Amino acid sequence: MFRSGAGRVQISQEQIAARIQALGQEIKRDYEGQEPHLVCVLNGAFIFMADLVRAIDLPLTLDFLAVSSYGNAEKTSGEVELIKDLRLPIAGRQVLIVEDIVDTGITLNYLLRLLEARQPASLRVAALLSKPSRRQIEVPIHYLGFEIEDAFVYGYGLDRAQRDRNLPFITSQA
Ligand code: 5GP
Repeated sequence: MFRSGAGRVQISQEQIAARIQALGQEIKRDYEGQEPHLVCVLNGAFIFMADLVRAIDLPLTLDFLAVSSYGNAEKTSGEVELIKDLRLPIAGRQVLIVEDIVDTGITLNYLLRLLEARQPASLRVAALLSKPSRRQIEVPIHYLGFEIEDAFVYGYGLDRAQRDRNLPFITSQA
């Protein structure tokens, strides 16, 4: 897995693209003959979602939900709030949650409980980034882009005080 060293994270556009192609192929293999339903967790996962769905060569459907983020703070408050719910039902569907980053695991744990209660046929998680050293709740990640060390990262959909989501790479440098 990806480790940059020296307390910094720098993942290039090319590294992200290559990893997402590999994830797309893995997902295609696992869901062959099925029609997965991808659920994008807004806002941070919107670019990852857009690239990931185009890397999955299968018929699929998708939807979006939004949860409260850290606001402009860099640490979690520990409370998650559903800001925007899904538009489509997921009962009986092969649901794949698409998250930008799993940090403490609190957000993903909340989402897994929320969606599991709606009785999907299966429920899995694709996350672009994971910071395992920060985990407070163990959560499953079936498809992971990069494991990173504990640094605040931004770019490629992830914000720094709402800015820098449009950077084509991921960085932790000021
Ligand atoms: P968790 O609930 O796992 O602690 O945090 C998940 C959410 O926190 C992510 O979906 C993301 O919105 C935000 N987050 C966690 N770490 C980072 C980070 O390093 N950079 C940014 N921009 N957001 C983060």
